[in-house]
Amino acid sequence: MKFKFWGVRGSIPSPGPRTARYGGNTTCIEVRSDDGTLIVIDGGTGIFALAQSLLARGRAPVQANIFITHSHWDHIHGLPFFSPLFIRGSRVRLHGATDPVTGNGIEHVMGVQLQNSYFPVSETQMDATIEYTTLAVGAPIAVGDAVVHNVLMNHPVTDLGYRVECNGRSLFFTGDHEPFYNIHPPGHPEHAAYQAHIEQRSAAIDAVVRGVDALIVDCSYTREEYPAKQGWGHGTFDAALALAARTGAKRLYCTHHEPTRGDDELEAVFADVIARHAPLPGGLQVFLAYEGLEVELH
Ligand SMILES: [Zn+2]
Ligand SMILES: [Zn+2]
Repeated sequence: MKFKFWGVRGSIPSPGPRTARYGGNTTCIEVRSDDGTLIVIDGGTGIFALAQSLLARGRAPVQANIFITHSHWDHIHGLPFFSPLFIRGSRVRLHGATDPVTGNGIEHVMGVQLQNSYFPVSETQMDATIEYTTLAVGAPIAVGDAVVHNVLMNHPVTDLGYRVECNGRSLFFTGDHEPFYNIHPPGHPEHAAYQAHIEQRSAAIDAVVRGVDALIVDCSYTREEYPAKQGWGHGTFDAALALAARTGAKRLYCTHHEPTRGDDELEAVFADVIARHAPLPGGLQVFLAYEGLEVELH
């Protein structure tokens, strides 16, 4: 199994000279299972470059299995530009959660963008076969020779973290995730019950992540920035390292880079985090994700 980053930026596309080395496109990860099954996690603007590369390999129909972590724009707004949607014979299957507030299934993230106020081509004008699979939380699904597990993360909307497994190799992507914290102060009547709830949720995530070969985590903030952003639904480099250490992950890839952070600043904050945590536990390797980074899992 192998995977490749096509978008590593959080919140808003951020092209330009400041971000040229790590990339300005929003979240998209291409995964290839051992038999070549294409799994795409998230449809941020990076999915357009992925689509172009698929077409460059020949204009043959594409079979794509797209898994959406959650419906925020930076994770879906490249979807209508996924060129295989316009190629007859292609089959694009979109997977994701139900929005518990609206009751909308995953078809909504496509439908909302294809309203003619926002996009000139309707779904009926697209030549590919488009299918929607709304996932049950916690229910694994087979895709080619891979299995995709999901677990509920912590974000202002439902966000599914995905673990992809194939022939004993695995990766996990959090989507957007803020480690749990108790919203009630000690002594508050609901503190203990809430604490039990978040410990259970956190343990459920750890169980799905445990032993993963490649752990890809939302590292939007430094620990210094985090207090002003608590509750926004994003994590820190330090929390990602703690998750990796706790679960025995072999490699950690930090992603969802802040749009305000240029390449030099990103490398500076990363160097600070790594220096503080040296030596890393259990041979853990940690990387900053960048557009074009491809990883083969042996
Ligand atoms: Zn995001
Ligand atoms: Zn989000």
